[in-house]
Amino acid sequence: MNKPYLESYPDEKGFFGKFGGSFIPPQLVQPFEEIKKAYEEIKNSKQFIEDLKYVRKHYQGRPTPISFAKNLTKHCNGAKIYLKREDLNHTGAHKLNHCMAEVILAKHLGKKKVIAETGAGQHGVALATAAAYFGLECEIHMGEVDIKKEHPNVIRMKILGAKVVPATHGLKTLKEAVDSAFEAYLNDTKNSIYCIGSVVGPHPFPMMVRDFQSVIGFEAKEQFLEHENKLPDNVVACVGGGSNAMGIFAGFIENKEVELYGVEPLGKGQKIGEHSASLTYGEEGVMHGFNSIMLKDKNGEPAPVYSIGSGIDYPSVGPEHAFLKTEGRTKVGLCDDNEAVDAFYKLSQLEGIIPALESAHAVGFAMKLAKTLPNDKTILVSLSGRGDKDIDFVVENYPIPNSKF
Ligand SMILES: *Cc1c(COP(=O)(O)O)cnc(C)c1O
Repeated sequence: MNKPYLESYPDEKGFFGKFGGSFIPPQLVQPFEEIKKAYEEIKNSKQFIEDLKYVRKHYQGRPTPISFAKNLTKHCNGAKIYLKREDLNHTGAHKLNHCMAEVILAKHLGKKKVIAETGAGQHGVALATAAAYFGLECEIHMGEVDIKKEHPNVIRMKILGAKVVPATHGLKTLKEAVDSAFEAYLNDTKNSIYCIGSVVGPHPFPMMVRDFQSVIGFEAKEQFLEHENKLPDNVVACVGGGSNAMGIFAGFIENKEVELYGVEPLGKGQKIGEHSASLTYGEEGVMHGFNSIMLKDKNGEPAPVYSIGSGIDYPSVGPEHAFLKTEGRTKVGLCDDNEAVDAFYKLSQLEGIIPALESAHAVGFAMKLAKTLPNDKTILVSLSGRGDKDIDFVVENYPIPNSKF
């Protein structure tokens, strides 16, 4: 019998086909070996599974429900739209799914401090929360541009006891935050551990973060059957690094009849610098320690990227997404800034749910897809987070529509 997909990929060295792997400086080889070994040890340990189940149920708020978006469905007049409500996690996004597990791993390794990057601040807040809960120090690196844009999350991290370090080079957004966090980790691999915020980075992170996020897909599969008595025809999730998408895809990857769509931000347009649609416009390349499909400038360096969603403006993408797209198992959807803002307001006014701007990209694409499908078809959207962090920015730049209809 063939091994299930999730046990077959990645291989020993962290490759999904030709994507993934571990391209790191010699000083990091040993620390990453240590992380890999620790993960192999604890992933099947009864204690670890019990600990994680406990915090998820009694602290984080899992299982998160699936809601039928009845008014949005009526508005689109096509396929039925369902939402997997990751916005209802403590701290407001799916990030705590892997942060809690990464911090338990850090404790297992005897580390005192967790270090990470953050884009919109969601990963930083989630990690600061997990660190507070488990009693570890926390240091978060964040681009200066994002620090201004996502002010409430910066304050939240500080209140939670984390140190926020601004990344001041280059475009001062997510990529630079990753550079800066890697450097800090390099300087203190003994006492600290890097807790990557998505299914990116060197092996074992893409695998580990996927495994921790797979709870979204496993819950969703069961819950969707409860609603519809069949599997969804389509599953849609936004892709920055790709963790909420891999998390929900994990539940349906073996069911070939379920179409899986990763939605990339088309930003302001198709030119380099106007979007961050890596899978759509990128080419193979190594960045931040792994081989994937990335956006490059004329010199082959990581290209400048942009999206209205601060958590999804990354010039590369998780290697498993590159692999699954190349294999034809997943498809890529696009949603630009304006479509995302339209979805942001539509979901708010028709369903009473204010989505994160990142998640609004998945909703925006799902609305376009729904309109092309008959009303006996279904779409399950990963609503990765809530939009409280984005309200000031949206209202200042895109006036609230006068009429819902
Ligand atoms: C961080 C974040 C994302 C993007 O990260 P992925 O790893 O691509 O899931 C999407 N939505 C929200 C709400 C986020 O906070």
